[in-house]
Amino acid sequence: MGRRLIIAGGGIGGMAAALALEREGIAVNVFERAPAFAEIGAGMSLWPNATRILRSWGVLDPLLETSETVTHFDLLRPDGGTISTIPMGGFDTPAVCLHRADLHRVLMRALSPGCVVPDRRLVSFTHGADIGVTADFAGGPSVRADGLIGADGVHSVVRARLHGPSDPIFRGYCIWRGIGPETPGGSRGHITETWGRGQRFGVMPMGGGRVCWYATRNGPAAQADGDKGRKSEIQGLFAGWHRPIQELIEGTNASDIIKNDAQDRRALPRWSRGCVTLLGDAAHPITPNVGQGACMAIEDAACLAKSLRGEPDLAAGFAAYEEARRGRTTFVGRQSRRIGAIGQLENPIVVAARNLVTRAVLFASRDMTLNSVYGFES
Ligand SMILES: Cc1cc2nc3c(=O)[nH]c(=O)nc-3n(C[C@H](O)[C@H](O)[C@H](O)COP(=O)(O)OP(=O)(O)OC[C@H]3O[C@@H](n4cnc5c(N)ncnc54)[C@H](O)[C@@H]3O)c2cc1C
Repeated sequence: MGRRLIIAGGGIGGMAAALALEREGIAVNVFERAPAFAEIGAGMSLWPNATRILRSWGVLDPLLETSETVTHFDLLRPDGGTISTIPMGGFDTPAVCLHRADLHRVLMRALSPGCVVPDRRLVSFTHGADIGVTADFAGGPSVRADGLIGADGVHSVVRARLHGPSDPIFRGYCIWRGIGPETPGGSRGHITETWGRGQRFGVMPMGGGRVCWYATRNGPAAQADGDKGRKSEIQGLFAGWHRPIQELIEGTNASDIIKNDAQDRRALPRWSRGCVTLLGDAAHPITPNVGQGACMAIEDAACLAKSLRGEPDLAAGFAAYEEARRGRTTFVGRQSRRIGAIGQLENPIVVAARNLVTRAVLFASRDMTLNSVYGFES
């Protein structure tokens, strides 16, 4: 009988892993705690390192129908002046902005019927060299399999059980996200990020008349919304910033604005134990500054499937996978943390110097930096 694996968590990482493994002929089930897959109102960027893999899986074309291709990344000042512009056209597959739910749906549709089991929260598991894994769920009976992949996000139960419980590290700012309408005169294909003092605003057109935006502000963890509500608070914070920032916030349904703390974790020295491993945010959550968290999960999935190809020993395959992935994910996580720290600087003199230095550094090292992240082939 062939190998059978369980994936805990049906986010982008879990779905991508299931697809990559099914393509290798491995039987897999994804157990997701949510009873249904809700339309989480957030847009996201996917960069060439991820779209290259999605193309190899045959799922890029349907995504291109509901996304916008990114031609440029523009770094701006609050008055709209340009700090730097990075053209994004020089890769074999495009960078795109899209709705998270569209990516999720396309991955899920590519899986075999019955692969995904909703409403099943993993609570615990036992594992051993000769016995495989027995996974226990809050919403149903235990399941036995040859191995378990924890793709259960930043607060992973699988990670906590393998490596001990710990809290994510808060990086000093929060992030709001929303989806607003396209505005007349908006630049199609341009992602913009505007750097102020201790706050940033990002604009990502994602096709179909929709524009995803995000905003950041320095402050304590888990800060409550202002008295007048989340939307007015953001409007006040970004008053006087260039167009179309106010129009975008104004055109966003207040109850759809999502708020998260910027957080990540220290890199683990090991991810796997025997026939259990981790993938995506469960293994290496990163701050969102380079838009690479889901891209890393997709890279993980491709690498995991490759590492198991023709490998009779599951534990050896998992060890090879994490060996191949640890350095890369640590590097990208560090880059993201640094960019976030620079983008959130507050002191006006330091900020003026930052903008000048960033312009010069991006100009000098642009191709090298882009290729190191986006040119990656798993
Ligand atoms: C503000 C913000 C903006 C971002 N923008 C981008 C971007 O533009 N591009 C990009 O590539 N990345 C971006 N990211 C990162 C990206 O969202 C994550 O890295 C990515 O979603 C990780 O996917 P995952 O499947 O590993 O985890 P998750 O998406 O967290 O999925 C985990 C899944 O596991 C389920 N689960 C949890 N516990 C259990 C359990 N015990 N049993 C069963 N199921 C369980 C959850 O319900 C969930 O469905 C952003 C993140 C943030 C916070």
